[in-house]
Amino acid sequence: MRRILLVSHCILNPYSKAVGLLWEEKVKAARRVVKTLLEDLETGVIQLPCPELLYEGLGRKPASRESYDNPKFRGICREIADQAVKIAAEYEREGTRIVAYLGVEGSPSCGVEWTHFRIDKPEKGRGVFTEILYEAMSNAGIKISLLGLPEKVKYGSLEELLRKLEALT
Ligand code: SF4
Repeated sequence: MRRILLVSHCILNPYSKAVGLLWEEKVKAARRVVKTLLEDLETGVIQLPCPELLYEGLGRKPASRESYDNPKFRGICREIADQAVKIAAEYEREGTRIVAYLGVEGSPSCGVEWTHFRIDKPEKGRGVFTEILYEAMSNAGIKISLLGLPEKVKYGSLEELLRKLEALT
């Protein structure tokens, strides 16, 4: 059966990250996941726009979830989420499952299990964009699993994520 995954923008394009956050360790983790999805799991991949880039551009500094939790940023997230819902609904109507959203652990915007409420330490919680996307999908009656890419070991195991991706139906 055909299946598609929605992914955070920087998983395919690491050059969208905030200044100073482009590390080799992260790029390698993302490329391994993308390669597995495309080559081994034959999964379609839809790259969502980067909400932070649309909000503050490429020159932005790393920031906390608190600083992104404002009406303007939420509005940008909602626009992306609404488009994602439209796309997902169209694929599902034609019989192709949107099986999951793959976010980025630790991100104030795209974190799934880990975010940064404050800039100085990661904490359990969802990023602003992930929260809004999930809400929009749920309101539209689209069931979607949420998974997070552990770009760093402290956020979890890459092998475990690959197993979860394989098991998605
Ligand atoms: S906002 Fe999301 S897509 Fe953009 S750089 Fe951060 S984690 Fe990646």
